[in-house]
Amino acid sequence: MSLQEQSLSYVRAISPYQPGKPITELAREMGIPVEKIVKLASNENPLGMSPKAKKAVEAAIGGIERYPDQFDLIKAVAAKAGVAQSQVVLGNGSNDVLDLIARVFLAPGRSAIFSQHAFAVYPLATMSTGAELIATPAKNYGHDLDAMRAAIRPDTRLIWIANPNNPTGNFLPYPEVRAFLDAVPKDVVVVLDEAYNEYIAPDERVDTASWIKDFPNLVVCRTFSKIFGLAGLRIGYALASSEIADLMNRVRQPFNVNNLAIAAAVAALDDHQFVTESYELNRRGMEQLVTGLKRLGLEYIPSHGNFVTFRAGDGAGVNQKLLQQGVIVRPIGGYGLPEWLRVTIGTEPENARFLEALEAAL
Ligand SMILES: *Cc1c(COP(=O)(O)O)cnc(C)c1O
Repeated sequence: MSLQEQSLSYVRAISPYQPGKPITELAREMGIPVEKIVKLASNENPLGMSPKAKKAVEAAIGGIERYPDQFDLIKAVAAKAGVAQSQVVLGNGSNDVLDLIARVFLAPGRSAIFSQHAFAVYPLATMSTGAELIATPAKNYGHDLDAMRAAIRPDTRLIWIANPNNPTGNFLPYPEVRAFLDAVPKDVVVVLDEAYNEYIAPDERVDTASWIKDFPNLVVCRTFSKIFGLAGLRIGYALASSEIADLMNRVRQPFNVNNLAIAAAVAALDDHQFVTESYELNRRGMEQLVTGLKRLGLEYIPSHGNFVTFRAGDGAGVNQKLLQQGVIVRPIGGYGLPEWLRVTIGTEPENARFLEALEAAL
């Protein structure tokens, strides 16, 4: 038997994750200087990282010979979220905690539910356990919670929900999410992935962490990769009942989060000015992009994140023409949306450069 045949069939069935094209890769492929390239493909923060976090990283380099201690960050996250420290699980990016949840609850003979056009890591995390993946049809490109509830089977142990969703930007009103939690059996885990939580208008935002005491089957995931600008350091977290958090910690690698990430995240949580600036830049940039897309007569999905998805027609063709002009966006054919492209909100000049390139590409 070949090694291929010896490998787990459910691992062979996984399609690899397709990341946004790195700037350095496009530079190599097309001979475009790195500084001429605009990358709006991975929902990164165009302002970079918080200056306070940067200082904290520089200081933390001094202790790099030591294994990390997660205590300070767990304490800070718990205080901010209003939960006990025993309810916080840190991850090497929030993708890591998604994986931990899957490993605790999924296995061959069990199933998990996710929505068509939802985040690509849910199929990866589910399929790598050998559990069956149930995909429910989207409603207006977002989650159809009624369809998801109807899809629950006796072997279903977990439901994935991204709010707002990536790559479509759809947002589920909080009362609908809460009604869904009321309707789901208490022994089915609901993962509420809030990677874009901080981009929701503060007066519209509801603190879902406070729901955990009512719903011990709820796991809320958040990340430092987006508004906090720490994507390259890999740091995110889950908030859950102490019972679930304890189980997740049993399968977690003891030192899954590094010293620099811990130091940066503690400082970033405290840098309200940077978060506000990032939020405001995103709000203005969203307006700029949406106005530009309308002017070009392009359909788009109203987004609550730091990106917007629009119908380009020939998604792959338009993407190629953008790349030739040094502009990287995200094709989402892999999400079942081959006519659409997702663009991250950048700085004002980056957004303008994108719109100009898009007009030329069409
Ligand atoms: C970006 C994103 C994440 C964050 O992933 P990290 O591993 O924390 O970088 C999680 N969920 C969704 C839906 C995302 O778009």
